[in-house]
Amino acid sequence: MATKPSKKKAAPKKAAKKADKKTTKPISLHPLINKGVLSTAKKNFAGGTLTCHCATDPVSIHIKGQTAHNHACGCSKCWKPEGAVFSIVAVTGKDNVSVTANGHKLKVVDDTALIRRHACTGCGVHLYGRVENTKHGFYGLDFVHTELSKEKGWSPPTFAAFVSSIIGQGFDPGKIKDVRARLKKVGLPPHDCLSEGLMDYLATHDAKQAGVLKA
Ligand SMILES: [Zn+2]
Ligand SMILES: [Zn+2]
Repeated sequence: MATKPSKKKAAPKKAAKKADKKTTKPISLHPLINKGVLSTAKKNFAGGTLTCHCATDPVSIHIKGQTAHNHACGCSKCWKPEGAVFSIVAVTGKDNVSVTANGHKLKVVDDTALIRRHACTGCGVHLYGRVENTKHGFYGLDFVHTELSKEKGWSPPTFAAFVSSIIGQGFDPGKIKDVRARLKKVGLPPHDCLSEGLMDYLATHDAKQAGVLKA
């Protein structure tokens, strides 16, 4: 008999907590990672088709084979789906990418940026971003958002880059710690530039170009 009333007392508290959660809208990192990284890379994945959001005459590109270095990116330039704080972006060799439909709708967002992001002029979605500076360590790579594809088995994101950059886009600096904690929780180590691996790769490339290291 004694346990029953105490349970009844606990119930309203729980209800109040639930109501609180409903009123404060949770931050959407990105739909693909909000509940954890649920996708896995398929072995010998053949690639697939990425399509923009236009209802008519959508732009599509085909990517041959699997992508690499997929990650969440907080920079201001990568394309993000509605409401997401991060983009999810991977790389592939430019020779693996071919425009298969309505390429005339593509336009480079910022010609001066290292990554020349080709966006659809109809819906704004970025189909691919190409590095054309032959001296840069990322030369020959295209940046792509595999969430635009119906195929399952693309390489999942493994880290988060440019996390602090979201503040420059209006994100509350008081909540950035929560964002880093959530990224860690879903298995995406947060970085304020790129991952150590990619930073080391670029630094090695630059050192070789400068003649500090043997090419
Ligand atoms: Zn479009
Ligand atoms: Zn970015």
